[in-house]
Amino acid sequence: MTAELIDGSETAKQIRRELTAQVQELAAKGIVPGLAAILVGDDPPSKIYVNSKAKNCQKVGVYSEVIRKDAGITQDELYSVIDSLNSNPRISGILLQSPIPSFLDEFAACVRINPIKDVDGLHPDNVGRLLIGKPRYQSCTPLGVIELLKRYRVEMKGKEVVIVGRSNLVGKPLAAMLMQKWPETNATVTICHSATRDIYDHTRRADVVITAMGQPEFLRGEHIKEGAVIIDVGISRIDDPSVEKGYRIVGDCHFESCSAKASKITPVPGGVGPMTIAMLLTNTVLAAKIQHGLA
Ligand code: NAP
Repeated sequence: MTAELIDGSETAKQIRRELTAQVQELAAKGIVPGLAAILVGDDPPSKIYVNSKAKNCQKVGVYSEVIRKDAGITQDELYSVIDSLNSNPRISGILLQSPIPSFLDEFAACVRINPIKDVDGLHPDNVGRLLIGKPRYQSCTPLGVIELLKRYRVEMKGKEVVIVGRSNLVGKPLAAMLMQKWPETNATVTICHSATRDIYDHTRRADVVITAMGQPEFLRGEHIKEGAVIIDVGISRIDDPSVEKGYRIVGDCHFESCSAKASKITPVPGGVGPMTIAMLLTNTVLAAKIQHGLA
């Protein structure tokens, strides 16, 4: 079997088109959704992510602000940045770009964000709502995975799903979504992690395998069953002297061997990655609607 490609770049483009139409409808009512990103320090990948988020906002007509603070900021100064965004009516959604310097308390800062503006879906209030099955904003990367499964018509009801990785950002919220009794989910979910005795024993039995580990090409064709659906969240950079840049971006799955056996597969790059920002925009537009009593 040669797998059908689940194209996250194309899907994200389509979502941006849909959001542009929604933003125009809101503009006709005098509402402009706004996203504020807080960037602390000068971590190069974080700068790239934040700039890319701001560019994507522009594409769909969402107002965006980047608040840059140097790495020496105190916890109280960080709180006052968050407090002023919490009370700023132009800002529908706030995100604190992770990681922040390790002497700061990232969890406490996340909790300081008003949950009604927590478009990253990481505030305990929003995580709790998801677990109960009454979500407001859901974490962007797992939401992107669910959106890809839905748009590529992967029926999830009753399916055996194995998620490898249990982070608060990806694995745990994804499991909480997939186990819900919703039309697009309703699956049987197993979560594997570094203490799992034999991960491949689980992945070989799964109808759908979702990897979110950060371990380059960990999963190969021999570790999945014929016709499985493979969703690869992992992103790693590996040295490759045969290409001009000297490195390649790969996922947690070995693409060639897995795509020879799977029925559907996401590539890396171009799979889940572009969906994360598309879901952040989706949450920001939803935030503007909620704050104006339209959702
Ligand atoms: P994380 O916080 O480091 O969590 C990694 C998870 O994988 C942990 O639960 C860890 O287990 C598990 N794990 C790591 N190595 C393992 C191994 N050899 N065997 C079994 N389990 C193992 O990472 P994350 O934030 O969830 O991100 C995971 C990957 O997704 C990274 O490559 C990241 O760059 C990528 N990512 C992509 C996007 C996107 O937009 N596409 C967004 C977020 C993250 P323990 O809990 O036992 O340590």
